[in-house]
Amino acid sequence: MSWIDLHCHLNFLEISPEEAIKNALNSGVSKMVTIGTEPKDHKIVLELAEKWAPYVYCTLGVHPHEAKLYDDDCELWLKKHLSNNRVVAVGEIGLDYYYDHSPQDIQRTVFRRQLELAQEFHLPVQIHTRDAEEDTIKILNDFKGISGVIHCFTGTAALAKVVLDLGLNISISGVVTFKNADPLREIVRDIPLDRIHVETDAPFLTPVPFRGKKNEPAFVVQTGEFVANLLKLNKEEFSKITNENTLRVFKKIKE
Ligand SMILES: [Zn+2]
Ligand SMILES: [Zn+2]
Repeated sequence: MSWIDLHCHLNFLEISPEEAIKNALNSGVSKMVTIGTEPKDHKIVLELAEKWAPYVYCTLGVHPHEAKLYDDDCELWLKKHLSNNRVVAVGEIGLDYYYDHSPQDIQRTVFRRQLELAQEFHLPVQIHTRDAEEDTIKILNDFKGISGVIHCFTGTAALAKVVLDLGLNISISGVVTFKNADPLREIVRDIPLDRIHVETDAPFLTPVPFRGKKNEPAFVVQTGEFVANLLKLNKEEFSKITNENTLRVFKKIKE
C-alpha cells in the first residue's frame, strides 16, 4: 500500500526536502507533488522534482496571493518549462479573496491566463480558491474541458457540485480531520469515488493527531486513513482508488 501526496510545498518546510522525502518514503508515501507559487520558487520546485525523481514531481504556476508578480517574463519562463516531464500540472492558480494579497481584478486576469496555458500545454490544473466561489465558477465555466483538482477543498456543497459537473476533481487535505469540519465531512461522503484525491498542503494544515507540529508529506497517510474510515473503506482499497485517480488525471505521474 502506498499514498501519493498530491499537493505539498517541499521548499517551505522547516526540515530539509531530503528529510521530508525520506520520512515520506518510510511512512508509505510513494510520490509527492511539490507546488510552484511564484516566479522565484519555480526554479526551486523544478530542481527538486528533477533531483528527487522518481518520487517528486512539481507544478508550475502563480498563486493568487502572488498574482501581482505575474508578467510576460514569468509567462515566457512557464511556457519554456511546462513541457518538462517532471511538471505535471499548472498550479497553484486561482482566486483568494480572503487575504486579498493581490488585487482581485489582477487575480482574475492571471487565473485566466494560466488556465489558457493549461489548455495550450494539455495539462491539468491545481486550483486554490478561498472566499471567491462565485468568480471561480464564472471563470471555470469559460474553460470547459479543463481537468485537474480544486486543491484543499473547503468550499460549499454547491461549489463541489459545480466543479464535479465541470469535470474537475476534488483534493482533500488534513482539514477533514479537524474537529469543526463536519460540513466538509458531509461533502466528502458525496464525492464520487473516482473523483477524490488526498494531499497535505504541507507545511500548512497538519492533520489530527499531529496538530501543533509542522505538517510534512508523510502525514498524508493520516488524512488518507481518516477519509477511508469516513467512507467505510479499508485503507488499502482507498489508497489504491486515490492513486488511480491521480494517475488518470495527472498523466505525467508514472506508477
Ligand atoms: Zn492553496
Ligand atoms: Zn499550497
